[in-house]
Amino acid sequence: MAAARLSGRPGIRVDLFERRAGFGRKLLVAGSSGLNISHDLPAEEFASHYAGGTPAFWSGLLADFGPPEWIAFIENELGLETFRGTSRRYFVREMKASGLLAAWRKRLEAGGVRLHGNSELKDFRREGGSLRLSFGDGRECEADRVLFALGGGSWEDVPPFWPDLFRAKGFEVEPFASANAGHAVEWSPAFLAEAEGKPLKKIRFGNRRGEKDGELVVTRYGLEGTPVYFLGEPGDAWIDLKPDLTEAAILARLEAVKENFAPIRRVKLKLDLCEASLALLFHHVSEAERRDLRTLVARVKRFPIRLGSARPLAEAISSTGGLAFSELDDSLELRKIPGTYAGGEMIAWHAPTGGFLIQAAVSMGARLADSVLRSSGKPA
Ligand SMILES: Cc1cc2nc3c(=O)[nH]c(=O)nc-3n(C[C@H](O)[C@H](O)[C@H](O)COP(=O)(O)OP(=O)(O)OC[C@H]3O[C@@H](n4cnc5c(N)ncnc54)[C@H](O)[C@@H]3O)c2cc1C
Repeated sequence: MAAARLSGRPGIRVDLFERRAGFGRKLLVAGSSGLNISHDLPAEEFASHYAGGTPAFWSGLLADFGPPEWIAFIENELGLETFRGTSRRYFVREMKASGLLAAWRKRLEAGGVRLHGNSELKDFRREGGSLRLSFGDGRECEADRVLFALGGGSWEDVPPFWPDLFRAKGFEVEPFASANAGHAVEWSPAFLAEAEGKPLKKIRFGNRRGEKDGELVVTRYGLEGTPVYFLGEPGDAWIDLKPDLTEAAILARLEAVKENFAPIRRVKLKLDLCEASLALLFHHVSEAERRDLRTLVARVKRFPIRLGSARPLAEAISSTGGLAFSELDDSLELRKIPGTYAGGEMIAWHAPTGGFLIQAAVSMGARLADSVLRSSGKPA
């Protein structure tokens, strides 16, 4: 985003370096499950989803370049269609990221940006009036400004090298940990045989941090899905398998069944629960509890589970940790080395899934470009 905003400006040459052969790998990964680019929420509520940095920083950042500007960029400058889903999430029409990346790359090249794949940054330093960059293949390059957008710690087979480089230069870099990750749950083999890979649909997940409606997926090791990404932490939690009805309403509905059916059969007939929810009741509630209607209904409304540890960083959608905010000023310039800037997931902030991650990355990209323009005396 920074390169796109700076491209085509008189007197500015932009070079974009990426350690991998191809650009935007994580966007492609994100697009494999439907590229959710942003969220439709009032500004203040949107900004409240970010942890790390100050509330004023996030409201300012999003006021300068928020969801409307990002959507307008995709539609008007890249020529792609977007839509707002029922969950108030924005998506690109084709759902995958490949079209977005191809159009973005074309836009950059048309604006004169030079793209350098297979170029891993190994070092940077200020030498007199300019900044020197060293790459893995021995190449050196000189620049007036350097914008770092080196990414977070998640979904990487080899942990990124940049935190060590920055620490060696005296920067505070908080260690990475999994965020927006699945959590372990000890399932019985019988339950897994029936429910592995299936969704727990229209549920409410809760723990001491709050409650979140949505869908969870049962996995061999535990649970994945937005409610757990929002609230997950090791410890006691519960799932409401029928959040749209109160316990009393469920009880009344099940007691109204005339036939002398067992409680679990009444649940199956009358509550329209999904397969995985029924499997939970069959395999993770004792036979004695299943025979008692009131106890069974209590389980439907508050199914107790215990979350274990989060999945490892390599499987997490994002990470906590990264370059400390205290190393940056509001223009995202690194205080220790003037002329260098940083943005995106490499900074120590985090947010839930729902388009908040990509939105922050592009909003910071826009801020980086505007800061460079301002510092060079050019209009933003
Ligand atoms: C499975 C998955 C699903 C996701 N789904 C969504 C979603 O639906 N919605 C959403 O908002 N977000 C989603 N995200 C998160 C989103 O992809 C990231 O927030 C976003 O890509 C962050 O952008 P970034 O530019 O900060 O970092 P990145 O996209 O990680 O880019 C950083 C780049 O820097 C390169 N690099 C690192 N070190 C060096 C070096 N030394 N030299 C040169 N290059 C280097 C990396 O190779 C990388 O390409 C998802 C992530 C994952 C893993």
